[in-house]
Amino acid sequence: PMPTAPYMYLDGSIVPYADAKVHAFSGVVKYGCGVFEGLRAYRSASGNLLLFRLAEHIDRLRFGMKAMRYERILPHDEIEEAVVSMLRANDLREDTHVRVIAYLGGDDPLHQTGPVGLIAGALPRPSRGVGGGLHATVSSWRRIADSALPPRVKCTGNYVNNRTAEIEAVQDGYDAVLMMTADGKLAEGSGACLVLVRDGRLVTPDVGSDILEGITRDTILRLGADITDRPVAERRVDRTELFAAEEAFLCGSGQEVTPILSVDRLPVGSGEPGPVTLALQERYFAIVRGEIPEYAAWLTPVWED
Ligand code: PMP
Repeated sequence: PMPTAPYMYLDGSIVPYADAKVHAFSGVVKYGCGVFEGLRAYRSASGNLLLFRLAEHIDRLRFGMKAMRYERILPHDEIEEAVVSMLRANDLREDTHVRVIAYLGGDDPLHQTGPVGLIAGALPRPSRGVGGGLHATVSSWRRIADSALPPRVKCTGNYVNNRTAEIEAVQDGYDAVLMMTADGKLAEGSGACLVLVRDGRLVTPDVGSDILEGITRDTILRLGADITDRPVAERRVDRTELFAAEEAFLCGSGQEVTPILSVDRLPVGSGEPGPVTLALQERYFAIVRGEIPEYAAWLTPVWED
């Protein structure tokens, strides 16, 4: 099993992992309407721990609370404090994944909009690093649509869709799954956004393609134009473009930047990690570890230097 840090944050307190519990009749259990974030913190050269784009993750969490009509939207500072205090309580100084969940708690089975609670915990694990690669499949399951379950809201119940697609793909022998919109255009992976390289240019499904508006996607859009010297294309993307592309990769806070080597057993480009993806990986990992001063505003240090 994946190791978890010994302490979690729960509704204002630091508690042992085993005590981070919610009531069986809470709204989050019954309706699956928690909202959550997954982000990473990286060890810097000086030994500090740097949270990557924490402010943007908190903004998205708060947007989720609004969209899910929570009776109270937790203040930005309270969420930041929860994450930082939890990491400090665990004395964490190595690379770690961080999970934050805002939820409908209490024990009243009829209360649909509150009380609003907050959970944070850490799953220490190393970065995937440069290189690597995934063998992917296009799912038989379609991505949920904004007209029913909005994919841009990182709501726990939405992830029934991703889980169904991912489990099927893994049981069929693939490392990763790509999902299409209801009208058959490419959307995204089960926990990451999709980017292709076509004619030396980055191409990614637009925000109308039933995707989560990924923070890593945004990072890549900013870096991509520098690396390729061409503007990034955000548009509808066809399934067969996976086979026309020179390169493809997934990007997400947990996924980081990971090459896709094949789709449905057909190689993407050469079938090896390509030069654009490798250059983006190098740059991404340098930024998250605080090696490029230009991007310091994206980093929140956990420890006082
Ligand atoms: N799509 C989905 C469905 C996801 O769950 C995630 C992970 N949050 C992403 C994309 C990537 O988003 P981000 O870069 O903000 O982590």
